[in-house]
Amino acid sequence: MEEKIDRLLAQIEGNLDYLRELGIDYVPGDKSLPAGDLSKKKVFSSLEQEIRQCRKCPLAELRKNAVPGEGCIDADLMFVGEGPGRDEDLQGKPFVGRAGELLTKIIKAMKFERESVYITNVIKCRPPGNRNPKSHEIEACKGYLFKQIELISPKVIVTLGNVPTRFFLNTKTGITSLRGRFHTYKGIRIMPTFHPSYLVRNEEDRSLKKMVWLDMQKVMAVLGKK
Ligand code: SF4
Repeated sequence: MEEKIDRLLAQIEGNLDYLRELGIDYVPGDKSLPAGDLSKKKVFSSLEQEIRQCRKCPLAELRKNAVPGEGCIDADLMFVGEGPGRDEDLQGKPFVGRAGELLTKIIKAMKFERESVYITNVIKCRPPGNRNPKSHEIEACKGYLFKQIELISPKVIVTLGNVPTRFFLNTKTGITSLRGRFHTYKGIRIMPTFHPSYLVRNEEDRSLKKMVWLDMQKVMAVLGKK
């Protein structure tokens, strides 16, 4: 009997070693191991590392920095834009510059902090001249976004502009028709709204800001911020 128990314990220890080698630090019921979030952080940072070194599409040749994304990896709310612009490429961070400042203001007005949401783009490297990403670039890059969504598991994704909205909703319909109401992607609520850089470019048109704010209020209601 004792021999059998020893064999079982050795087998369990062997399995735990194997899981640790895979980077899984937490096994339910194993109180000696650190909290489960550590393994998520580890997976997330190795994903970011992979993105920073990625050369899967020609945009790798042109970038200064890949921009994986930024924020809380347990966020209820994600913002997804189309791709990094000039400032983002230089700094390796998403949504910096004027459009980024505006997005930060919107997030604060929604009673969130920038650090408590997750901000990223459909593609992680800057297309030249800030053109829209091409379909083969999106195809090459989309796995990173899917993985981020899988790990974060947000309740709501706000898509900023046409590119991410069409990507998630698999449609050619424009943002003006799709914004302002929830759609669904794999059980996650999607709220399309205008891209902050579109608001910056059309500053004199106050109705655009008003529409974005109406959209964000619907998101706040779902996330208990109203
Ligand atoms: S855009 Fe995406 S797929 Fe292309 S090089 Fe950058 S990270 Fe890789």
